[in-house]
Amino acid sequence: MSKGNQAFSVLGIPVHVMANYPGWLLECLHAGRGTHVVTLNAEMTMQAERNQFLAQVIKNAELVIPDGAGVVLYLRWLLWQKVQRFPGIELAEKLLQELGQQKTGAKVFFYGAAPGVAAIAADFWQQQIPDLSIVGTHSGYHSPEEEAQLRETLAQLQPQVIFVGLGVPRQELWIAENRHLCPQAIWIGVGGSFDIWSGTKTRAPAWLGNNNLEWLYRLYQEPWRWRRMLALPEFAVKALVYRFTARGAIS
Ligand code: UDP
Repeated sequence: MSKGNQAFSVLGIPVHVMANYPGWLLECLHAGRGTHVVTLNAEMTMQAERNQFLAQVIKNAELVIPDGAGVVLYLRWLLWQKVQRFPGIELAEKLLQELGQQKTGAKVFFYGAAPGVAAIAADFWQQQIPDLSIVGTHSGYHSPEEEAQLRETLAQLQPQVIFVGLGVPRQELWIAENRHLCPQAIWIGVGGSFDIWSGTKTRAPAWLGNNNLEWLYRLYQEPWRWRRMLALPEFAVKALVYRFTARGAIS
């Protein structure tokens, strides 16, 4: 973390707060500094409570951004930090736009989602930003043999920006296990972003997102998520208990 950037602890998980995340990532790219980006929300924080391995992977990530409403409210109400939510999908989009504008020529790879979806998302972005260099895509459903082939492809191509959309915690664990293949790359877990960019799913209207209610829209779109979403009230209760028994700021 460079000067002016801060890290806070949300239930023992670090969250980095900085004015310009895409700018920081471009610096990493130019310096060839390998980076794992985690986009943290309350649900992931609760998964990390139960899965020590996931917790360690998030702690090892070079950048953890406040993606979810719960994390932002925790930082605001309990640590008095006026932090803006930065959804991971928007960070990914901003990074692609900057790569195109700056004509970096950086090689980009999309991995994840149902067969064909990442390829449609790549076509979408290639049309939006002709200067972008998307060098490959791969679906997130495949045999172990295909996965071995994917690893070889990544090692050969050496993309500098790799988006992995396998859902949480699969994508975080996959990145931790495989980032050595492209040690200078920026690896971002992008969840369902390929579904959105390909038009397979839609994002919540901006007014819901601005009011920290994007999760409600997801529940409406995917009602079977209700069980996973019980993590939200659990997070709220744990947050209060943790806050009054431990220190929040870690730097
Ligand atoms: N996915 C995948 N392989 C799998 C399981 C899931 O590629 O084995 C994809 C799925 O198609 C979807 C994304 O991972 O595009 C998960 O999106 P979701 O929004 O559910 O992510 P989460 O909320 O878990 O971060």
